[in-house]
Amino acid sequence: MEKDDKNIQEEKDIFFPEGYCHECLQCGKCCRNWQIVIDKNKYQQLINTPFILKMKKKFPESDMVKFYSDQEVGVLGEINNNCIMLDDNLCMIHSEMGCDFKPDVCRKFPFVLTSTPDGIYAGVSYHCLSIQRNKGIRVSEYIQDIKKLLETFKPKYQADNIIKLTDNISVTWEGYLFLEKQLTDWVDTTGVSDATWKMMGMIISLGIIGENIGDKAISVNEMENLLSSPPLPPLKRERWFHEYQFEYASSILSILELWAGSMEERNADIILKGGSLQSDSFEKEIEIKPIEEYVKSHLQEEFQTEFDKYVKHLLWRKYLLTYDTVFTGLVTVNFLPIFFMWYANASLTARDGREMEMDDVKTTLGLLDLYFHHLRLLGRFFRRFGKGLIDQHEILMR
Ligand code: SF4
Repeated sequence: MEKDDKNIQEEKDIFFPEGYCHECLQCGKCCRNWQIVIDKNKYQQLINTPFILKMKKKFPESDMVKFYSDQEVGVLGEINNNCIMLDDNLCMIHSEMGCDFKPDVCRKFPFVLTSTPDGIYAGVSYHCLSIQRNKGIRVSEYIQDIKKLLETFKPKYQADNIIKLTDNISVTWEGYLFLEKQLTDWVDTTGVSDATWKMMGMIISLGIIGENIGDKAISVNEMENLLSSPPLPPLKRERWFHEYQFEYASSILSILELWAGSMEERNADIILKGGSLQSDSFEKEIEIKPIEEYVKSHLQEEFQTEFDKYVKHLLWRKYLLTYDTVFTGLVTVNFLPIFFMWYANASLTARDGREMEMDDVKTTLGLLDLYFHHLRLLGRFFRRFGKGLIDQHEILMR
Protein backbone atom coordinates (compact mmCIF):
# COMPACT_ATOMS: atom_id res chain seq x y z
CA MET A 1 0.00 0.00 0.00
CA GLU A 2 1.25 3.46 -0.83
CA LYS A 3 1.93 6.06 1.76
CA ASP A 4 2.10 9.61 0.47
CA ASP A 5 5.19 10.90 2.24
CA LYS A 6 6.15 13.69 -0.17
CA ASN A 7 3.41 16.13 0.44
CA ILE A 8 1.79 15.65 3.81
CA GLN A 9 0.85 19.02 5.22
CA GLU A 10 -1.67 17.87 7.79
CA GLU A 11 -0.74 16.19 11.00
CA LYS A 12 -2.33 13.01 9.66
CA ASP A 13 -0.86 10.79 6.97
CA ILE A 14 -3.11 9.53 4.22
CA PHE A 15 -2.76 5.98 2.95
CA PHE A 16 -3.98 4.77 -0.45
CA PRO A 17 -4.31 1.18 -1.68
CA GLU A 18 -1.99 0.02 -4.45
CA GLY A 19 -3.34 -1.23 -7.76
CA TYR A 20 -6.59 0.77 -7.75
CA CYS A 21 -7.46 3.38 -10.39
CA HIS A 22 -10.39 5.73 -10.75
CA GLU A 23 -11.77 8.29 -13.18
CA CYS A 24 -15.47 9.12 -12.96
CA LEU A 25 -17.43 7.60 -15.87
CA GLN A 26 -20.43 9.85 -15.18
CA CYS A 27 -22.70 6.84 -15.00
CA GLY A 28 -24.72 8.46 -12.18
CA LYS A 29 -24.82 5.20 -10.22
CA CYS A 30 -23.77 6.92 -7.00
CA CYS A 31 -26.62 9.44 -7.37
CA ARG A 32 -29.41 6.83 -7.41
CA ASN A 33 -31.23 4.47 -5.09
CA TRP A 34 -29.96 5.88 -1.82
CA GLN A 35 -30.34 9.04 0.16
CA ILE A 36 -27.75 11.77 -0.29
CA VAL A 37 -26.91 13.25 3.09
CA ILE A 38 -26.13 16.95 3.32
CA ASP A 39 -25.22 18.91 6.43
CA LYS A 40 -26.89 22.14 7.40
CA ASN A 41 -23.87 24.38 6.81
CA LYS A 42 -23.44 23.01 3.34
CA TYR A 43 -27.08 23.53 2.47
CA GLN A 44 -26.98 27.05 3.83
CA GLN A 45 -24.30 27.91 1.29
CA LEU A 46 -26.76 26.93 -1.41
CA ILE A 47 -30.09 28.02 -0.02
CA ASN A 48 -30.47 31.52 -1.41
CA THR A 49 -28.46 31.12 -4.57
CA PRO A 50 -30.10 31.71 -7.97
CA PHE A 51 -29.35 28.05 -8.68
CA ILE A 52 -31.61 26.75 -5.88
CA LEU A 53 -34.31 29.28 -6.74
CA LYS A 54 -34.20 27.99 -10.32
CA MET A 55 -34.44 24.39 -9.05
CA LYS A 56 -37.45 25.25 -6.92
CA LYS A 57 -39.21 26.64 -9.96
CA LYS A 58 -38.29 23.53 -11.93
CA PHE A 59 -39.63 21.15 -9.25
CA PRO A 60 -42.36 23.13 -7.44
CA GLU A 61 -43.90 19.96 -5.95
CA SER A 62 -40.69 18.54 -4.49
CA ASP A 63 -38.60 19.31 -1.42
CA MET A 64 -35.03 20.22 -2.30
CA VAL A 65 -33.93 18.89 1.09
CA LYS A 66 -35.44 17.30 4.18
CA PHE A 67 -33.78 17.72 7.55
CA TYR A 68 -33.88 15.13 10.34
CA SER A 69 -35.21 16.10 13.74
CA ASP A 70 -31.85 17.32 15.05
CA GLN A 71 -31.73 19.62 11.99
CA GLU A 72 -27.97 19.22 11.64
CA VAL A 73 -28.08 16.79 8.72
CA GLY A 74 -30.70 16.29 6.07
CA VAL A 75 -31.14 14.45 2.79
CA LEU A 76 -31.53 15.86 -0.69
CA GLY A 77 -34.88 15.33 -2.42
CA GLU A 78 -35.43 12.47 -4.87
CA ILE A 79 -37.31 12.05 -8.11
CA ASN A 80 -37.96 8.42 -9.11
CA ASN A 81 -35.15 7.28 -6.77
CA ASN A 82 -32.68 9.66 -8.44
CA CYS A 83 -31.11 12.55 -6.55
CA ILE A 84 -33.10 15.66 -7.42
CA MET A 85 -29.83 17.30 -8.52
CA LEU A 86 -29.14 14.65 -11.17
CA ASP A 87 -29.73 15.71 -14.75
CA ASP A 88 -28.73 13.49 -17.65
CA ASN A 89 -26.25 11.68 -15.34
CA LEU A 90 -24.61 14.95 -14.35
CA CYS A 91 -24.75 16.65 -10.97
CA MET A 92 -26.32 20.09 -11.35
CA ILE A 93 -24.69 21.41 -8.16
CA HIS A 94 -21.32 20.47 -9.67
CA SER A 95 -22.03 21.93 -13.10
CA GLU A 96 -23.71 25.15 -11.90
CA MET A 97 -21.97 25.89 -8.60
CA GLY A 98 -18.72 23.89 -8.66
CA CYS A 99 -17.45 20.80 -6.90
CA ASP A 100 -16.92 22.51 -3.51
CA PHE A 101 -20.66 23.12 -3.14
CA LYS A 102 -21.53 19.45 -3.41
CA PRO A 103 -22.44 17.52 -0.22
CA ASP A 104 -19.32 16.05 1.41
CA VAL A 105 -20.51 12.46 0.82
CA CYS A 106 -20.59 13.18 -2.95
CA ARG A 107 -17.18 14.87 -2.93
CA LYS A 108 -15.79 11.89 -1.04
CA PHE A 109 -17.23 9.13 -3.25
CA PRO A 110 -15.83 6.63 -4.26
CA PHE A 111 -13.38 6.96 -1.37
CA VAL A 112 -14.12 5.33 1.96
CA LEU A 113 -12.24 7.19 4.68
CA THR A 114 -11.37 5.76 8.08
CA SER A 115 -9.51 7.83 10.63
CA THR A 116 -7.03 5.83 12.77
CA PRO A 117 -4.22 6.66 15.22
CA ASP A 118 -1.79 6.16 12.28
CA GLY A 119 -3.63 8.42 9.85
CA ILE A 120 -6.43 8.29 7.30
CA TYR A 121 -7.01 5.12 5.29
CA ALA A 122 -8.49 6.16 1.94
CA GLY A 123 -10.04 2.93 0.68
CA VAL A 124 -12.41 2.75 -2.27
CA SER A 125 -16.00 1.64 -2.83
CA TYR A 126 -16.65 -1.28 -5.18
CA HIS A 127 -20.12 0.17 -5.75
CA CYS A 128 -18.45 2.66 -8.15
CA LEU A 129 -18.40 1.50 -11.77
CA SER A 130 -15.00 3.07 -12.40
CA ILE A 131 -13.48 1.21 -9.42
CA GLN A 132 -15.03 -2.04 -10.67
CA ARG A 133 -13.38 -1.48 -14.05
CA ASN A 134 -10.17 -0.18 -12.47
CA LYS A 135 -9.70 2.41 -15.19
CA GLY A 136 -8.28 5.94 -14.89
CA ILE A 137 -5.51 7.42 -12.80
CA ARG A 138 -4.03 5.88 -9.66
CA VAL A 139 -6.22 6.64 -6.65
CA SER A 140 -3.23 8.14 -4.78
CA GLU A 141 -3.28 10.98 -7.32
CA TYR A 142 -6.46 12.24 -5.63
CA ILE A 143 -4.46 13.17 -2.52
CA GLN A 144 -4.98 16.92 -2.90
CA ASP A 145 -8.76 16.48 -3.26
CA ILE A 146 -8.86 14.31 -0.15
CA LYS A 147 -6.75 16.80 1.79
CA LYS A 148 -9.03 19.64 0.79
CA LEU A 149 -12.09 17.61 1.75
CA LEU A 150 -10.59 16.77 5.15
CA GLU A 151 -10.33 20.48 5.98
CA THR A 152 -14.08 20.42 6.63
CA PHE A 153 -15.10 16.75 6.55
CA LYS A 154 -14.76 14.39 9.50
CA PRO A 155 -14.68 10.73 8.44
CA LYS A 156 -17.62 8.79 9.83
CA TYR A 157 -15.42 5.93 11.01
CA GLN A 158 -12.98 6.95 13.72
CA ALA A 159 -10.75 4.41 15.42
CA ASP A 160 -8.95 5.50 18.57
CA ASN A 161 -6.25 3.84 20.67
CA ILE A 162 -8.60 1.29 22.21
CA ILE A 163 -10.46 -1.10 19.93
CA LYS A 164 -13.41 -3.22 21.07
CA LEU A 165 -13.04 -6.83 19.94
CA THR A 166 -16.25 -7.92 21.66
CA ASP A 167 -18.54 -6.32 24.22
CA ASN A 168 -16.18 -7.56 26.97
CA ILE A 169 -12.68 -7.37 25.57
CA SER A 170 -10.59 -4.56 24.05
CA VAL A 171 -7.12 -4.32 22.58
CA THR A 172 -4.72 -1.46 21.93
CA TRP A 173 -4.48 -0.10 18.37
CA GLU A 174 -1.20 -2.01 17.92
CA GLY A 175 -2.97 -5.13 19.19
CA TYR A 176 -5.66 -4.65 16.58
CA LEU A 177 -3.05 -4.25 13.81
CA PHE A 178 -1.38 -7.47 15.00
CA LEU A 179 -4.70 -9.35 14.67
CA GLU A 180 -5.49 -7.75 11.31
CA LYS A 181 -2.09 -8.77 9.90
CA GLN A 182 -2.60 -12.33 11.16
CA LEU A 183 -6.05 -12.44 9.54
CA THR A 184 -4.76 -11.16 6.19
CA ASP A 185 -2.02 -13.82 6.23
CA TRP A 186 -4.60 -16.52 6.94
CA VAL A 187 -6.82 -15.24 4.09
CA ASP A 188 -3.81 -15.81 1.80
CA THR A 189 -3.18 -19.32 3.02
CA THR A 190 -6.57 -20.78 3.97
CA GLY A 191 -9.22 -18.60 2.29
CA VAL A 192 -11.72 -16.13 3.75
CA SER A 193 -14.08 -18.52 5.48
CA ASP A 194 -11.47 -20.51 7.42
CA ALA A 195 -9.40 -17.41 8.17
CA THR A 196 -12.30 -15.50 9.73
CA TRP A 197 -13.44 -18.60 11.61
CA LYS A 198 -9.95 -19.07 13.07
CA MET A 199 -9.78 -15.42 14.07
CA MET A 200 -13.21 -15.58 15.72
CA GLY A 201 -11.92 -18.59 17.70
CA MET A 202 -8.82 -16.66 18.69
CA ILE A 203 -10.88 -13.74 19.97
CA ILE A 204 -13.19 -16.03 21.96
CA SER A 205 -10.08 -17.69 23.49
CA LEU A 206 -8.66 -14.27 24.34
CA GLY A 207 -11.92 -13.38 26.07
CA ILE A 208 -11.80 -16.54 28.18
CA ILE A 209 -8.10 -16.49 29.09
CA GLY A 210 -7.95 -12.74 29.54
CA GLU A 211 -11.08 -12.33 31.62
CA ASN A 212 -9.03 -11.31 34.67
CA ILE A 213 -7.61 -8.38 32.77
CA GLY A 214 -10.87 -6.53 33.34
CA ASP A 215 -11.51 -3.33 31.42
CA LYS A 216 -7.87 -2.78 30.42
CA ALA A 217 -7.07 -2.92 26.69
CA ILE A 218 -4.81 -5.89 25.93
CA SER A 219 -1.44 -5.02 24.40
CA VAL A 220 0.40 -7.01 21.70
CA ASN A 221 2.77 -8.57 24.28
CA GLU A 222 -0.05 -9.54 26.60
CA MET A 223 -1.92 -11.00 23.66
CA GLU A 224 1.05 -13.12 22.59
CA ASN A 225 1.48 -14.39 26.18
CA LEU A 226 -2.20 -15.09 26.61
CA LEU A 227 -2.41 -17.03 23.36
CA SER A 228 0.66 -19.16 23.98
CA SER A 229 -0.13 -20.42 27.49
CA PRO A 230 -2.07 -22.39 28.43
CA PRO A 231 -3.12 -23.60 24.95
CA LEU A 232 -6.86 -23.87 24.45
CA PRO A 233 -8.39 -26.44 22.10
CA PRO A 234 -9.18 -24.87 18.70
CA LEU A 235 -12.77 -24.04 17.93
CA LYS A 236 -14.53 -26.89 16.15
CA ARG A 237 -17.00 -26.14 13.41
CA GLU A 238 -19.65 -28.73 14.12
CA ARG A 239 -22.12 -29.92 11.52
CA TRP A 240 -24.92 -27.83 12.98
CA PHE A 241 -22.88 -24.73 12.27
CA HIS A 242 -23.06 -25.21 8.47
CA GLU A 243 -26.79 -25.81 8.53
CA TYR A 244 -27.35 -22.88 10.82
CA GLN A 245 -25.11 -20.67 8.69
CA PHE A 246 -26.93 -21.57 5.44
CA GLU A 247 -30.31 -20.91 7.00
CA TYR A 248 -29.10 -17.64 8.42
CA ALA A 249 -27.49 -16.63 5.11
CA SER A 250 -30.71 -17.44 3.21
CA SER A 251 -32.73 -15.30 5.63
CA ILE A 252 -30.34 -12.41 5.14
CA LEU A 253 -30.40 -12.80 1.34
CA SER A 254 -34.18 -12.96 1.34
CA ILE A 255 -34.39 -9.75 3.36
CA LEU A 256 -31.97 -8.07 0.94
CA GLU A 257 -34.05 -9.25 -1.98
CA LEU A 258 -37.24 -8.03 -0.35
CA TRP A 259 -35.52 -4.72 0.20
CA ALA A 260 -34.33 -4.69 -3.43
CA GLY A 261 -37.92 -4.35 -4.54
CA SER A 262 -39.56 -7.71 -4.86
CA MET A 263 -42.41 -8.25 -2.44
CA GLU A 264 -42.20 -12.03 -2.68
CA GLU A 265 -42.56 -13.26 0.88
CA ARG A 266 -41.48 -16.81 0.12
CA ASN A 267 -37.96 -15.61 -0.71
CA ALA A 268 -36.24 -17.24 2.29
CA ASP A 269 -37.62 -20.63 1.36
CA ILE A 270 -36.83 -20.17 -2.33
CA ILE A 271 -33.25 -19.13 -1.59
CA LEU A 272 -32.75 -22.05 0.78
CA LYS A 273 -34.43 -24.73 -1.32
CA GLY A 274 -34.41 -23.34 -4.87
CA GLY A 275 -37.28 -22.22 -7.10
CA SER A 276 -38.46 -19.25 -9.05
CA LEU A 277 -37.42 -15.86 -7.68
CA GLN A 278 -38.79 -12.50 -8.70
CA SER A 279 -36.28 -9.79 -7.89
CA ASP A 280 -35.40 -6.27 -8.94
CA SER A 281 -31.73 -7.19 -8.46
CA PHE A 282 -31.95 -9.29 -11.63
CA GLU A 283 -34.78 -7.41 -13.37
CA LYS A 284 -36.70 -10.59 -14.10
CA GLU A 285 -37.96 -13.81 -12.63
CA ILE A 286 -35.20 -16.43 -12.46
CA GLU A 287 -34.99 -20.10 -11.58
CA ILE A 288 -32.42 -20.57 -8.86
CA LYS A 289 -30.88 -23.63 -7.24
CA PRO A 290 -30.77 -24.24 -3.48
CA ILE A 291 -28.22 -22.02 -1.75
CA GLU A 292 -26.02 -24.96 -0.79
CA GLU A 293 -25.57 -26.02 -4.43
CA TYR A 294 -24.51 -22.50 -5.41
CA VAL A 295 -22.07 -22.26 -2.55
CA LYS A 296 -20.46 -25.59 -3.36
CA SER A 297 -20.13 -24.83 -7.06
CA HIS A 298 -16.65 -24.47 -8.52
CA LEU A 299 -15.18 -21.02 -9.01
CA GLN A 300 -12.45 -20.33 -11.57
CA GLU A 301 -9.18 -19.18 -10.05
CA GLU A 302 -9.31 -15.67 -11.54
CA PHE A 303 -12.74 -15.07 -9.97
CA GLN A 304 -11.59 -16.40 -6.62
CA THR A 305 -8.56 -14.07 -6.85
CA GLU A 306 -10.86 -11.10 -7.52
CA PHE A 307 -13.00 -11.99 -4.50
CA ASP A 308 -9.91 -12.39 -2.27
CA LYS A 309 -8.61 -9.02 -3.51
CA TYR A 310 -11.92 -7.44 -2.46
CA VAL A 311 -11.80 -8.99 1.02
CA LYS A 312 -8.17 -7.98 1.54
CA HIS A 313 -9.11 -4.45 0.51
CA LEU A 314 -11.98 -4.49 3.03
CA LEU A 315 -9.54 -5.46 5.78
CA TRP A 316 -7.03 -2.87 4.63
CA ARG A 317 -9.62 -0.09 4.66
CA LYS A 318 -10.43 -1.07 8.29
CA TYR A 319 -13.87 -2.48 7.59
CA LEU A 320 -13.77 -4.49 10.84
CA LEU A 321 -13.77 -1.22 12.76
CA THR A 322 -16.96 0.03 11.19
CA TYR A 323 -19.20 -2.26 13.25
CA ASP A 324 -20.00 -2.08 16.96
CA THR A 325 -17.23 -4.61 17.63
CA VAL A 326 -14.50 -6.27 15.55
CA PHE A 327 -16.25 -9.59 16.15
CA THR A 328 -19.45 -8.39 14.43
CA GLY A 329 -17.34 -7.23 11.45
CA LEU A 330 -15.65 -10.64 11.34
CA VAL A 331 -19.01 -12.42 11.30
CA THR A 332 -20.05 -10.28 8.31
CA VAL A 333 -16.85 -11.11 6.43
CA ASN A 334 -17.28 -14.79 7.30
CA PHE A 335 -20.64 -14.75 5.48
CA LEU A 336 -19.33 -12.95 2.39
CA PRO A 337 -18.19 -16.08 0.47
CA ILE A 338 -21.75 -17.46 0.71
CA PHE A 339 -23.33 -14.21 -0.46
CA PHE A 340 -20.72 -13.82 -3.17
CA MET A 341 -21.28 -17.30 -4.63
CA TRP A 342 -25.03 -16.92 -4.47
CA TYR A 343 -25.22 -13.51 -6.18
CA ALA A 344 -22.57 -14.31 -8.80
CA ASN A 345 -24.43 -17.50 -9.76
CA ALA A 346 -27.79 -15.73 -9.71
CA SER A 347 -26.34 -13.03 -11.96
CA LEU A 348 -25.17 -15.74 -14.41
CA THR A 349 -28.63 -17.35 -14.33
CA ALA A 350 -30.38 -14.01 -14.85
CA ARG A 351 -28.52 -13.30 -18.08
CA ASP A 352 -29.01 -16.89 -19.32
CA GLY A 353 -25.22 -17.33 -19.46
CA ARG A 354 -23.47 -20.70 -19.66
CA GLU A 355 -20.23 -19.72 -17.90
CA MET A 356 -19.60 -17.18 -15.20
CA GLU A 357 -17.87 -14.03 -16.46
CA MET A 358 -15.82 -11.36 -14.73
CA ASP A 359 -18.78 -8.97 -15.12
CA ASP A 360 -20.91 -11.27 -12.91
CA VAL A 361 -18.14 -11.17 -10.32
CA LYS A 362 -17.62 -7.41 -10.40
CA THR A 363 -21.33 -6.64 -10.32
CA THR A 364 -21.64 -8.95 -7.34
CA LEU A 365 -18.76 -7.31 -5.47
CA GLY A 366 -20.43 -3.92 -6.10
CA LEU A 367 -23.67 -5.28 -4.67
CA LEU A 368 -21.92 -6.67 -1.58
CA ASP A 369 -20.25 -3.32 -0.93
CA LEU A 370 -23.59 -1.54 -1.34
CA TYR A 371 -25.47 -3.87 1.01
CA PHE A 372 -22.89 -4.50 3.70
CA HIS A 373 -20.81 -1.34 3.70
CA HIS A 374 -22.96 1.54 2.49
CA LEU A 375 -26.44 0.52 3.56
CA ARG A 376 -25.58 -1.84 6.47
CA LEU A 377 -29.20 -2.71 6.86
CA LEU A 378 -28.46 -5.98 8.58
CA GLY A 379 -25.71 -5.18 11.07
CA ARG A 380 -27.84 -6.28 14.00
CA PHE A 381 -28.36 -9.75 12.44
CA PHE A 382 -24.60 -10.23 12.33
CA ARG A 383 -24.28 -8.90 15.85
CA ARG A 384 -26.88 -11.38 17.08
CA PHE A 385 -25.23 -14.25 15.20
CA GLY A 386 -21.85 -13.24 16.70
CA LYS A 387 -23.22 -13.08 20.23
CA GLY A 388 -24.79 -16.53 19.77
CA LEU A 389 -21.43 -17.91 18.61
CA ILE A 390 -19.54 -16.38 21.52
CA ASP A 391 -22.03 -17.72 24.10
CA GLN A 392 -22.12 -21.17 22.54
CA HIS A 393 -18.37 -21.54 22.26
CA GLU A 394 -17.50 -20.01 25.60
CA ILE A 395 -19.57 -22.81 27.14
CA LEU A 396 -17.93 -25.48 24.96
CA MET A 397 -14.37 -24.26 25.56
CA ARG A 398 -14.44 -23.75 29.30
S1 SF4 B 1 -20.49 5.52 -9.61
FE1 SF4 B 1 -18.33 6.09 -9.90
S2 SF4 B 1 -18.13 6.29 -12.13
FE2 SF4 B 1 -20.33 6.35 -11.72
S3 SF4 B 1 -20.85 8.55 -11.45
FE3 SF4 B 1 -20.37 7.76 -9.40
S4 SF4 B 1 -18.17 8.19 -9.10
FE4 SF4 B 1 -18.58 8.34 -11.33
